[in-house]
Amino acid sequence: MSKVYTDKDASLDVIKNKKIAVLGYGSQGRAWAQNLKDSGLNVVVGLEREGKSWELARSEGFTPLYTKDAVKDADIIIFLVPDMVQRTLWLESVQPYMKKGADLVFAHGFNIHYKLIEPPKDSDVYMIAPKGPGPTVREYYKAGGGVPALVAIYQDVSGIAMQKALAIAKGIGATRAGVIPTTFKEETETDLFGEQVILVGGIMELMKAAFETLVEEGYQPEVAYFETINELKMLVDLVYEKGITGMLKAVSDTAKYGGMTVGKFVINEDVKKRMKEALQRIKSGKFAEEWIEEYGRGMPTVVNGLAQVQNSLEEKVGNQLKDLIQKGKPKTS
Ligand code: NDP
Ligand code: MG
Ligand code: MG
Repeated sequence: MSKVYTDKDASLDVIKNKKIAVLGYGSQGRAWAQNLKDSGLNVVVGLEREGKSWELARSEGFTPLYTKDAVKDADIIIFLVPDMVQRTLWLESVQPYMKKGADLVFAHGFNIHYKLIEPPKDSDVYMIAPKGPGPTVREYYKAGGGVPALVAIYQDVSGIAMQKALAIAKGIGATRAGVIPTTFKEETETDLFGEQVILVGGIMELMKAAFETLVEEGYQPEVAYFETINELKMLVDLVYEKGITGMLKAVSDTAKYGGMTVGKFVINEDVKKRMKEALQRIKSGKFAEEWIEEYGRGMPTVVNGLAQVQNSLEEKVGNQLKDLIQKGKPKTS
């Protein structure tokens, strides 16, 4: 197993007297700004416009500045706006105004790995990628814990980029859990692969195909929904808590036998071959190229795809069953 960094491996001292500009106050930006500030660090929030984030940041104790003013004397500049916005932000509001040699920090490797942002040679460039959504990063930190993260160094001009990356990781609470070293390439490629073939794409299509199979064969959509979509959470929770072994131990022997034999028949070697093809498209940069083009055209595929899913039978059935499902949930708070 690779080295796991924890609190004892990280010290805030290397960034204690630095000015940190957090660009963006959304999912991650809001959590990072608050956690870093609560860790005693010197944080300024930089935004492009006086919109929703601006108001929110103000109401939560920050005095937001326009990006160009926030980066002017910042030692550490953290990009926490959407990935597809970062290049324009960099070209228009960061690069022309930043202090020479300031650190450029990311929470995902996309823009650096695919060279949408070409950082100056005299800047340290590193990444801290939390393995959870922003609100969880904040919530765990407040409760005394932290969400684990990956760290990577792209440019280490100062010779202490890793110490600074670990300090930021500590400041947001990640070292309370654990921080694992990676590279921009590995983080970017595995992140895209995961969301495409399993977490978002794979699971969604698997649920839809199973639901449609039952409905097309005349079974009630409500029964199909419970079986092919709703129950997935309970199985995933078991895997999350006890591993795949724990999940298998919790289901019936009939389910174990059926799962072990038919699972391989449905998800066969062909599927893996296509997964490798998907990975190849990520590695060659083809996917990134296609996505940048799609984004530039206003994301028609995403907009239409979302509408299609929203209007699908499984979503209609799911919404009708939601009340019923919510009623059965244990009250945790
Ligand atoms: P968000 O979508 O939550 O970012 C929203 C922020 O960006 C707001 O402050 C918003 O300001 C600003 N913003 C949006 N559009 C623009 C624009 N066109 N120009 C200027 N500012 C804009 O981003 P995330 O927090 O999801 O992602 C930030 C980074 O963190 C990304 O690199 C992402 O890959 C990474 N990451 C995200 C994770 C997550 O769970 N979300 C997990 C791990 C990494 P306004 O209110 O004015 O619109
Ligand atoms: Mg991811
Ligand atoms: Mg991703």
